[in-house]
Amino acid sequence: MTLGDNLAINSLASGSRAARITFVTDGFKPDGLDPISLQNFGNLISENHVAQAALNQVQKIQTITGGKVTLYFKDGPRNLAGSVNKTIDGGMNMDMYMLHNANVRPQGAVSTFVHESSHYMRGSRGFEIGTQVDEYMAFRRELLFELGRKPTIAERQAMWLEKIVESEYYSSLPVGGELPRILQGLGG
Ligand SMILES: [Zn+2]
Repeated sequence: MTLGDNLAINSLASGSRAARITFVTDGFKPDGLDPISLQNFGNLISENHVAQAALNQVQKIQTITGGKVTLYFKDGPRNLAGSVNKTIDGGMNMDMYMLHNANVRPQGAVSTFVHESSHYMRGSRGFEIGTQVDEYMAFRRELLFELGRKPTIAERQAMWLEKIVESEYYSSLPVGGELPRILQGLGG
């Protein structure tokens, strides 16, 4: 492990339970010019109650189903900032690509973590992930983190239109069930 790993794990593990997040450090240079500091990432999670709740939830799921969270210090496939996958034995894996534009600042990286934690939780509970409904849930949680409060109905509707309906990528996903009532009739 590098110095950077240990710093981050210490800050993430400052609560009563040790973090089980696995750091993969391909390309990470603690003394280099990497755009994000692992310590800042860990500190921001521990200072924010939405992010801390997301981390606690991910850790709880890990203890039940296995799986890991990996921070890759490289670009992701298909320009992804992060992704969640379910293994054939039901474990949940989260991958984050820390050199993605969205993740080069700690605030953005934590926002991605909060978003992916929603997929992680829903996948572990047997919901289909990677659908429009599932992405809406993930963006709603991300908005909760970014605003620091529950988004209003109008804000959730605007988010749905901007992030899903008007996105070439997300609008092409399967809908994945019945839309929440506040979104019905808005398109999608
Ligand atoms: Zn997503």
